[in-house]
Amino acid sequence: KKGSTIMCEKTPADALKDELFYSPEHAAFTCEDGEIETADSFCGDYIDFLNRCKTEREVAAYVKTLAEENGFIPFDPDGSYEPGDKVYYDNKGKALILCVFGKQSLKSGAKIVASHIDSPRLDLKPNPLYEDTDLALFKTHYYGGIKKYQWTAIPLSLHGVICRKDGTKVTVRLGEDEGDPQFVVTDLLPHLDRQQAKRSAEDVVKGEDLNILIGSRPFGKDKGSELVKLNIMKLLNEKYGIVESDFLSAELEMVPAFKAVDIGFDRSLIGAYGHDDRVCAYPSIRAAFAAVAPERTTVTVITDKEEIGSEGNTGLCSAYLEDFIADIARTQGLCGRDVLRASECLSADVNAGFDPTYPSVHDKLNAAYLNKGIVVTKYTGARGKSSTNDANAEFVAKIRTLFDGEKVTWQTGELGKVDEGGGGTVAKYIANLGVEVVDVGVPVLSMHAPFEVVAKLDVYMAFKGFKAFLEK
Ligand code: MN
Ligand code: MN
Repeated sequence: KKGSTIMCEKTPADALKDELFYSPEHAAFTCEDGEIETADSFCGDYIDFLNRCKTEREVAAYVKTLAEENGFIPFDPDGSYEPGDKVYYDNKGKALILCVFGKQSLKSGAKIVASHIDSPRLDLKPNPLYEDTDLALFKTHYYGGIKKYQWTAIPLSLHGVICRKDGTKVTVRLGEDEGDPQFVVTDLLPHLDRQQAKRSAEDVVKGEDLNILIGSRPFGKDKGSELVKLNIMKLLNEKYGIVESDFLSAELEMVPAFKAVDIGFDRSLIGAYGHDDRVCAYPSIRAAFAAVAPERTTVTVITDKEEIGSEGNTGLCSAYLEDFIADIARTQGLCGRDVLRASECLSADVNAGFDPTYPSVHDKLNAAYLNKGIVVTKYTGARGKSSTNDANAEFVAKIRTLFDGEKVTWQTGELGKVDEGGGGTVAKYIANLGVEVVDVGVPVLSMHAPFEVVAKLDVYMAFKGFKAFLEK
């Protein structure tokens, strides 16, 4: 026993390094007893969530149901609310705000966690259906930043809504359940790709090549043109009660049909479509439900359209969050902008995890690593910090003190090397409102690919971090 004590004794240099150096550690070393099991169980729920909802509409609808089960009611701007009261605001079924009124007046600001629930995908064009050489296909227009070649030759499922001319709406979800048919974008065989292979990676598969195979049998035995298309339209009419022109008023999204699964012999990782950004949205929702009787009013936003620049009235460039804050402020006789100025926000979005196969795009000192916990990203952007919220040092200090105090494993991270590329999040739009904002989130491998990878301990640390932030 004495021998082992001697073995553990640190040299003065090592002791001083511990005191003076920054060295983020693997969450398996830093987490508390039993926390790995807790994280694994939390991630079991997350996997279930991933398989239930793959699109912004599906997430918003499911979270609304969960919120109602947890005692949230629709927000009434003319209502009056007590500490602990829980409300939600449904923005057109594609974005949702959950709010729990705090013990303190909104004068002391709200605690906001904002993530997004849209993910890169293939949207159907307004007039998508056609027949070519006895095959029926859908034309698509990709949504968000994708490497187009990754979307060929993988199973796809169809999600969304079709609004008929008579004002009725049909919800579509096909390719997810056992026995459902699925869909696919075909690719050229390697035997005949001599010309294609000469193209740059960006153009190997072109945007107009992302056509989806949806059928091949003609209607009946009559001779004529477009009989495969006719047969598909007949099936769609029977199943969904639609005619071809109803596609004009639809939002139909093709997404990978893969189920979320454990990755690795040790099951420490999760592979799934659309971790970006459901891997922050889900923990933030769970944190919103878990934060009982918070000091300050909590506002948990799951937004749409982040992947295309937060545009549109369900994206955070629109007024909906600002208006919601103004509305809750008014219930306490306050002005929205005074609440915003006093508010703090975690912009919850993923960051690129360091990938040992592609080390050259990262600065090792400032990269985010899988399993080292939730990433605090001071700024994103491109080139000379263009288009970013560069979080205030004072606010970053507050967050790291909070995380350390609550035993949240966390690390710093930058989105790649200087001038390597770049990206952004909703942080800058919320910062524009006067709110203190910093980006935090989960590191991801293969970001924006049809199948992304995250580490379970990081997912759990995101939950722990959001909960601490909302409660304190
Ligand atoms: Mn994102
Ligand atoms: Mn993204």
